[in-house]
Amino acid sequence: MNYEDVIARYEPVIGLETHVELGTASKMFCGCSTEFGAPPNTHTCPVCLGLPGALPVANEKAIESTIRIGLALNCSIASWCRFARKNYFYPDMPKNFQTSQYDEPLCVDGYLDVEVGGRTVRVGIERVHLEEDTGKNTHVGTSGRIHGADYSLVDYNRAGIPLVEIVTKPVAGAGELAPEVAREYVTQLRDILRTLGVSDVRMEQGSLRCDVNTSLNKPGEPWGTRTETKNVNSLRSVERAVRSEMLRQAALLDRGERILQETRHFQETTGDTRSGRSKEEATDYRYFPEPDLVPMAPDPEWVEQLRKELPELPAARRARLQESLGVSAEDMVQMANAGVVELVGATVEAGAPVAEARNWWLGYLAQQANQREVEASELGITPGQVARLVQLVADGTLSVALARQAVDGVLETGSDVDAVIAERGLKRVSDTGALEAAADEAIAANPDVAEKVRGGKLPAVGALVGAVMKATRGQADAAAVRTILLEKLGVSE
Ligand code: ADP
Ligand code: MG
Ligand code: ZN
Repeated sequence: MNYEDVIARYEPVIGLETHVELGTASKMFCGCSTEFGAPPNTHTCPVCLGLPGALPVANEKAIESTIRIGLALNCSIASWCRFARKNYFYPDMPKNFQTSQYDEPLCVDGYLDVEVGGRTVRVGIERVHLEEDTGKNTHVGTSGRIHGADYSLVDYNRAGIPLVEIVTKPVAGAGELAPEVAREYVTQLRDILRTLGVSDVRMEQGSLRCDVNTSLNKPGEPWGTRTETKNVNSLRSVERAVRSEMLRQAALLDRGERILQETRHFQETTGDTRSGRSKEEATDYRYFPEPDLVPMAPDPEWVEQLRKELPELPAARRARLQESLGVSAEDMVQMANAGVVELVGATVEAGAPVAEARNWWLGYLAQQANQREVEASELGITPGQVARLVQLVADGTLSVALARQAVDGVLETGSDVDAVIAERGLKRVSDTGALEAAADEAIAANPDVAEKVRGGKLPAVGALVGAVMKATRGQADAAAVRTILLEKLGVSE
């Protein structure tokens, strides 16, 4: 079955649950450091190890960050709410319960508008709540998984790091755009979180984690049973996960089978999902209000203050950038789809003309990002460096071809533009003597091409220009080479 068939027969509903590790200095309920990469179990204390008698104290900064996230997502902020115990046993959770929030989340009922395919889709936000992260299990053995492991190690450094969960309402009506809406939502959310400065939001390192819920129904019928896909570690995978679940579920429904409510695991290599834990019988977590913590009752004045102090959010910044860059709405959409709006804006702020900044980020740099399967922002070249390249091309120091080689160098070495140019000797050959010699060689090596040009077939000169460019490793000015060649062949344009 192909995707068009799915869309012709079914309507998708999606829902996203996103976990964000906050970038606070200390953990959620104790003073332990949250620093990443320390030796195992060195950032622990009686509280985060769940030792009897230890008492938690909530991290004010984490509460503040959660409220700021809620405000940025247009949520109402609870004036009174509590933490709750979510009881379950798992070795990476030493307390045997996770301190979370249940029926009294800190922020509720917001939305985030995303633009996809020229349409604005409003993604409702059900809740934003605060909880704590678990520790990390390492299964030692050839499989790397618990099955077949010789033994397992647990590192509690991560246990108790503040974690915010952002749950969307079901999103219906996106139709064929559902996979892209899912991706764009996570992209926008990530940008908002980054702008708020509450997390380093690195999907590949797990500080932003996403579960993707998908269901299908026939038009006019109630929503179908959802599956929840976990392990989705990149923006691209969010889109792929929705698409592959839609295809899988449609095939089952077409055969008259029923969808099992279950968690599934996304597999990077194949882009498919694999069955995980069944959710047919809801786990009873025996939630109850956490007796060791006082309720949270954020002062409304404080909340208003936080609202006033929110930074300019990406959507507003985009609108302002569109205005100040003077680009069309279509240009903006194109740049947004390529994930380069901020990058183009910053490149212009660093001194490049709009058209040049746009061309680099939508052209060669987008291509490089694609090849490497990363976001343009993750390429490893800064807007300042791109602005420097634009300047060097404008003042004639580099040709565009050389500037591209300089980009390659920056991406490969992480060095600065000027250092790469010096190291790789990327200088335009403007020494006419050298160019004339290369032109003579090209003519001598390609007598029939030379003859054609002499006979009036001007376009044939391109092959000779190419030969000279190759001989000078792209460091010559193609227009100048062409003039020299035509002169030597005695033809004028
Ligand atoms: P759980 O903890 O069981 O995963 P949550 O309430 O935390 O439940 O999250 C459920 C997610 O699934 C929400 O984002 C919700 O919008 C979404 N959802 C609910 N019903 C459907 C459905 N029929 N199809 C797709 N997504 C759904
Ligand atoms: Mg959930
Ligand atoms: Zn601790």
